[in-house]
Amino acid sequence: MYEEKHKQLKELEKVLTERVDGLARDLSSTHSADSAEQVTERENEDVLRNLQEETKMELQQVRAALKRLDAGEYGVCASCGADISPARLQALPYATLCIHCAK
Ligand SMILES: [Zn+2]
Repeated sequence: MYEEKHKQLKELEKVLTERVDGLARDLSSTHSADSAEQVTERENEDVLRNLQEETKMELQQVRAALKRLDAGEYGVCASCGADISPARLQALPYATLCIHCAK
């Protein structure tokens, strides 16, 4: 289970890191001089920034899950201490709560 989860989380970390980098590149791309276009660009930027923030947060959760995996605490509910079901971990590899506590 360790090897498999470690691989899954590392893959996810890679995908998310690339996404954050890609968004950072999009955000730093040159701006047009036209003011009407600038408004649209600014709106797009807001969307990109939100996406970037969300992705960064997800990345943090993935990294925290990797730490728990190394500490042997992975897959244990942070609230009640019960095992988190494999199906839930499959769907959400960085889940910290079991299905009952997450409700
Ligand atoms: Zn629980």
